[in-house]
Order: sequence, then structure tokens, then C-alpha cells
Amino acid sequence: MAFEGLTERLKATFKKISGKGRINQSDLDNAMREIRTALLEADVSLKVTRQITRRVSDEALGAHVLDSITPDQQIIKIVDDELIKVMGDEASELNKSKHIPTIVLMVGLQGAGKTTAVGKLARRLVKENNARPLLIAADVYRPAAIDQLKTLGETLKVPVYDEGTDVDPVEIVKNGLDLARKNNNDYVFIDTAGRLTIDEQLMDELKKIKELSQPTEILLVVDAMTGQTAVDVANDFNDALGITGVVLTKLDGDTRGGAALSIRYDTGVPIKFVGTGEKLSDLDVFYPDRMASRILG
Ligand code: GDP
Repeated sequence: MAFEGLTERLKATFKKISGKGRINQSDLDNAMREIRTALLEADVSLKVTRQITRRVSDEALGAHVLDSITPDQQIIKIVDDELIKVMGDEASELNKSKHIPTIVLMVGLQGAGKTTAVGKLARRLVKENNARPLLIAADVYRPAAIDQLKTLGETLKVPVYDEGTDVDPVEIVKNGLDLARKNNNDYVFIDTAGRLTIDEQLMDELKKIKELSQPTEILLVVDAMTGQTAVDVANDFNDALGITGVVLTKLDGDTRGGAALSIRYDTGVPIKFVGTGEKLSDLDVFYPDRMASRILG
């Protein structure tokens, strides 16, 4: 499970202080150093690690932690607050457009979990909002991706628009959107191609699809297991396309959790959802406060 290492390290740090009653400046300095190491080892970016440790130090001084008889509790509270702040305070859900359909462009590298995320989001909307989504299969480079989306559509009883692999994806999206308008679908998810690495051709294609579809949301799907790379990928996609949110997948895996802590602060883009398994129901809204509690164990 994600964060195990970080949680253990932080707990050990807090335990040291809690055994002491009142603590002195050197105890506090040691604790700060340990928090810093714990964050870096969890693959949290240097920028975010600095931000958290600086704020915790400042707050600890302001809150007179050294005079306190429960310094450990106070520090835990401060760390909790700072973790929540860097992750973005509030949960932010899917934005809706004024006129139907709300168009959601799904982008990401191959294998990140993009197609699965389309299925999970569609399932959630059908279940909770009685929505009538249409899924557009615009990944023409991998026939298996189209089949995968069709299978998801059958499972969810949600229509999937595809034109096979021989048509320009921009054309497919155009035709898919026409169909959605005709059929009054309230949501459209566009499943786009991913590559193993970011390349110009991929970005050009995505830019064209963006231009044509004018999406309300451009959600980047990134794999939490890739740690700091996930943050770099998010920065690259954001620079090229202006993404509106992130779906962080595979948080159930053996990840150190750094991506969850760094993405929002490093890119300015909120994590909106997290994937916690391979099943279609394994999708959660990202709540910074719950994530912070989980990290603190
Ligand atoms: P795409 O190439 O980005 O469309 O990726 P897929 O949706 O095909 O997913 C790639 C693999 O990751 C599949 O085996 C999925 O079952 C798996 N996967 C996707 N999301 C999650 C997740 O949140 N947790 C786990 N454990 N596996 C996931």
C-alpha cells in the first residue's frame, strides 16, 4: 500500500518526541531533519519537502511547541495541516459544462490506466447521477485499446463510438461528438492514444483534439508508482495542453506516495481522483485531508 514507508518513518519520529514530555530546540531540529528525510525517501519533490519542513518549523515556533506539554501532538497537527495544504485543501470534483454534453478529454502515457479510468468515471456518473455518457475510442494506434473500451462499454451498458484504427482520431472525435449531440448524451469521454514517452506527434494530435472538442475537463492519468516521473509527466502535459485535473492511478500498489504529495504543489493542477485497484469500482475522489490522515497513520 502507498505511504507505508513514510507513515512508519513519521510515526517513529513522533514517538521519539512523545517519550520526552517537554522537548528542547535540538529535539525539534532532529525531528525536522527526520521529517525531511522521510518525505524525500517517499519520493516527495525537493520543493514540496522544503515547503512542508519550513512551514512546520515556522508553525512549531509560533505555536510554542517547546513550551508545550504535548509537543508531539502539536507537531502532528502542524504536519497534518501542511500536508493538506500542499495537496490542495479541498477536494475538487469533475466540472460540468453549462450545456450538455460535458466533454472530458482523457490523456496520459500508455499503461498509466487511462482506458480503465474512463470506465471508472463513466460507471461513477451512471451510478450516482444517472448520467448517459458516450465513450469515444480515439486511440487508433492500439487496436486492443478500442476493444478494451468496447468491453468496458458492454459491462457498463454505455455506448462506445469507434471507427476502427484507419481513421484520423480528430475525425473520429468530430463524428463522435455529433452523435453525442444527436443522442443527448450528457457526458462524453474521449479516450486518446498514449505513448511510452511524450513525443511531439502525440502532443500535436492531442492539441488538435482539444481545439476541436473544446473540453470542459482535460484529465491527465498518471501512474503513482512512477513517483517523481509522474510529476514531470504532469508538468509536460500541462505545459502543452493546460490540463484541468489529474487522475492518480495504482495508489493501491507498492508506491512510496511522493506523487500524491507533489503533483498539486509542483504543477498547480489538482488531483481529482485516485485509482485504488483494477476493478471499475476502485476509484475515489481525492480528499487531501483524508490522504493526510492516511499518511500520518
Ligand atoms: P492505458 O494504456 O493508460 O489505457 O492503461 P489501461 O487502462 O489499459 O491500464 C493498464 C493496466 O493498469 C491494466 O492492467 C489495468 O488493470 C491497470 N490499472 C489501471 N488502474 C489501476 C489502479 O488504480 N490500480 C491497479 N492496481 N491497476 C490499475
